[in-house]
Amino acid sequence: MRIALFRSCKKRAGRYLPALVAACYLCAALLLFYSAGVLPTAATNLPLSGQTFVVDAGHGGTDGGAVGENGTVEAPLNLSVALFLAEELRKQGAEVLLTRTGPGAIAATKKEDMALRQAIMGTEGVTASVSIHMNKHTEPKPNGPRVFYQEGSEPSHLLALALQNALDDATGRERKTPVSGDYMVLNTQNTSVIVECGFLSNPEEEALLQTEDYQKLLARTIAAALSRYYGVTVDFAPAAQESCAVLFS
Ligand SMILES: [Zn+2]
Repeated sequence: MRIALFRSCKKRAGRYLPALVAACYLCAALLLFYSAGVLPTAATNLPLSGQTFVVDAGHGGTDGGAVGENGTVEAPLNLSVALFLAEELRKQGAEVLLTRTGPGAIAATKKEDMALRQAIMGTEGVTASVSIHMNKHTEPKPNGPRVFYQEGSEPSHLLALALQNALDDATGRERKTPVSGDYMVLNTQNTSVIVECGFLSNPEEEALLQTEDYQKLLARTIAAALSRYYGVTVDFAPAAQESCAVLFS
């Protein structure tokens, strides 16, 4: 009887073994593909799903913005960082509104251009806006990213602080305090900040800001900080391991 039971168990186990092995391979493959970023994830599972950000590339058209010591013009660098930032945010599930995607201004006059950017940044339902610029000083020494926010806007102040800390850490600089002031483009009801990525008046930084690697580092850092600030934690891997444990228990 004991032998028969043993045989029957063995027989049953033998019948289910291929299914169990297949399930194990499936779990392992799911974990592997997920960690490699191959598996398409439902948009609702991404950290910034349901959030909308405005990414504003400062200047454009005849308004090139600041000009560096060696002639670098600000506007194209702003656009490049803004496009990388939009890409990073979309990867994390966010909706992104870009004020411009090409070299031109977005309205006929500077006044209309600024008013339109301000209106886009103030769109209802926007989580936050980040305006990308490059800085300039009369002295060559100042360097590093600086974040600005509208005086009196506490939500913007808190976001500016989070971004300033993240950018200082990522670029290996001492932590600084974000700067408040009265900036037309930030004067909206929505949370909004300006990120001055670095100083074109510092020749070393002027060269660095032109490299794709540094532009991507800035974009990744801003996106990661926004994700930590507004995102939800996605806990896919432990859930997958749990379902494996259920299969084998
Ligand atoms: Zn600027």
